[in-house]
Amino acid sequence: MANTSANLLKNLWSDAEASGMSEPERLVYRSNLLGSDKRITNYGGGNTSSKISEKDPFTGQEAEVLWVKGSGGDIASIRLEGFATLYMDKLQALKKLYRGIEHEDEMVGYLPHCTFNLNPRAASIDTPLHAFVPYPYVDHMHPDAIIAIAAAEDSRELTRKIFGDAIGWLPWKRPGFELGLWLEKFCEENPEARGVILESHGLFTWGDSPKSCYETTIDTINRAIAWLEEETSGTPAFGGPRHEALSAEERRSAASLLMPQIRGMISREGNYKVGHFVDSPAVLDFVNSRHMPDLAPLGTSCPDHFLRTKIRPLMIDFDPAQPDLDAAVNALPGALDAYRADYQAYYDRCRHTDSPPVRDPNAVVYLMPGVGMFTFAADKATARIAAEFYVNAINVMRDASAVSTYRGLPEQEAFDIEYWLLEEAKLQRMPKPKSLAGRVALITGGGGGIGRATAARLMREGACVVLADIDEPSLDTARADFAEAFSPDMVRTVRLDVTDEDAVAEAYRQAGIEYGGVDIIVSNAGISSSAPIEDTDLAAWNRNMDILAKGYFLVSREGFRFFKRQKMGGNIVFIASKNGLAASPNASAYCTAKAAEIHLARCLALEGAEHQIRVNTVNPDAVLRGSKIWTGEWREQRAAAYSMKPDELEEHYRKRSMLKRSVLPEDVAEAVCFLASDVSAKSTGNILNVDAGNAQSFTR
Ligand code: NAD
Repeated sequence: MANTSANLLKNLWSDAEASGMSEPERLVYRSNLLGSDKRITNYGGGNTSSKISEKDPFTGQEAEVLWVKGSGGDIASIRLEGFATLYMDKLQALKKLYRGIEHEDEMVGYLPHCTFNLNPRAASIDTPLHAFVPYPYVDHMHPDAIIAIAAAEDSRELTRKIFGDAIGWLPWKRPGFELGLWLEKFCEENPEARGVILESHGLFTWGDSPKSCYETTIDTINRAIAWLEEETSGTPAFGGPRHEALSAEERRSAASLLMPQIRGMISREGNYKVGHFVDSPAVLDFVNSRHMPDLAPLGTSCPDHFLRTKIRPLMIDFDPAQPDLDAAVNALPGALDAYRADYQAYYDRCRHTDSPPVRDPNAVVYLMPGVGMFTFAADKATARIAAEFYVNAINVMRDASAVSTYRGLPEQEAFDIEYWLLEEAKLQRMPKPKSLAGRVALITGGGGGIGRATAARLMREGACVVLADIDEPSLDTARADFAEAFSPDMVRTVRLDVTDEDAVAEAYRQAGIEYGGVDIIVSNAGISSSAPIEDTDLAAWNRNMDILAKGYFLVSREGFRFFKRQKMGGNIVFIASKNGLAASPNASAYCTAKAAEIHLARCLALEGAEHQIRVNTVNPDAVLRGSKIWTGEWREQRAAAYSMKPDELEEHYRKRSMLKRSVLPEDVAEAVCFLASDVSAKSTGNILNVDAGNAQSFTR
């Protein structure tokens, strides 16, 4: 037997840690241990339960209470409040109300009536599965190694061969009340069994103590891992390679070219998509393999997998030995149309009279030989998780097809889960997407005061941001802060000198790879300098012209190229300055460069309109707080220009304004957000002053 110790799961149970805990705390502990390894269960997949004796707050009597992971959430991070609590006697009494499989769904409506202690956490569809297993501790996991056996054509025989009587087998049945009854019957008829494999689905295990339940789960998965490893050692995965992968650099180039084009073809107003790219060894093994073209159309097996990835992926026609990316791009519209037609046909074949209307017919997963996998969803986390799930599905297909014949879930069963009325109700209950959900914003000078405030504002509306700045430490801080305040999925950073033509193109490439596209460009990177004209040396003049006028030109030019390839319109907001409209003493280089930006924006508004590319300008004035510009010598120079001390400046500007108010980075961000979002869809070529009122810069 091969040495499998490196690939086996570790038993992480610690008596010392668990002993001081209450029963509910031990359930959290067990769940978190199981969830800490994605080989045990996928994100959000699986659930755990304990049947615990508790004092009923209503009667004062002891009651048996089922603590079971509630609807939503993930066992890796679940806390006490993530569990639903239900009276066991009431759950048992539901059997009397059950009218049979035809009426199974109505049982979900009874679950809230079984709630113990007014717990607001909603019970999940899997609740009866845990309730009716007649053991106090139950785990339900989706381990890749077990699903590989569960998705094999002869999964029943394989289960017996690997586990003997210890672990039983049940044929595919959609989770619900009926499956709960099946599990109960199985346990009664097989008192020696410590668990059961559910065909095409996953694993149920149980025990008389939390520790024994946990250990049975780990041991059962390890047995499957060891057996599969022994059986498949020496067998090339997926029939061996058919293609060679492109180099890492070429893969990224291909991704940055194709992803925005796909995104443009699958996004619609009100339904924008964000992309995710994976070219890990597991993915490359699959997309480059001989068997991929036969396996991928069979679809995924575990319901969790295909709810996230759609029943099957789209395969991009591409030969890495003759890498013709233009041909791959040109073939995309036809391939996407064919996929959509196929999905509609699947819906038409499988629909019932009361099925919900057909949903978005576009693929979620795109497989490209030599390059890797792209996934697209309404937000970055969902796209990333879809990719993780497809990697689970790849693992399952690899092992199942090596030891047997891999079987996806029958189409009608898959449809019945995908278009389950209960699933539809869950979708309907989801909050409405935020106004910039699915959009991607590239913000130059994103490490600075106005850039950061703008990023935060757009992220609050659901946008993903790519912060681009020459100052790497400020980018690192911004990224860490936003990852914590929002989510690591929503922020990326790229070092960029806006005066460098190649670096600008590279920033867009990065955005394409990281998020699949760009919708909003905030051209904001800037500096400032102050000197009377006769003391303004050529270097200072050129620096202002370079970073401001030329930088805004390069960022916009590349943005136009990108937008036109993506074919989704586009939105550019310039952060210019009041000084671009109103002359200011001793700052001719800065003021002239800012005036150039403002006029560039107007020219681009004219050129962009026919492509639905909008270009608008925000003119701030005197934003001292948070701005790095105002911590440097500009502050000293401006103070000198007005014959005052540097710390008197903020008050000076406030008093100078018509409204007598200080302008903050958040005020500028609000204006950008307005111009960057659809509420201003009919505005282009405009200037919005955010200067607390300055008659000199009134626009005409
Ligand atoms: P800031 O200094 O805090 O931010 C500017 C950012 O641009 C910095 O992080 C800097 O590293 C970056 N940057 C500079 N040169 C770059 C280059 N070559 N490539 C890439 N990034 C570069 O200043 P801020 O106040 O946030 O200014 C943002 C924009 O607002 C600037 O264009 C500025 O001219 C404009 N503005 C500011 C004020 C104000 O009072 N703060 C007023 C009017 C206009």
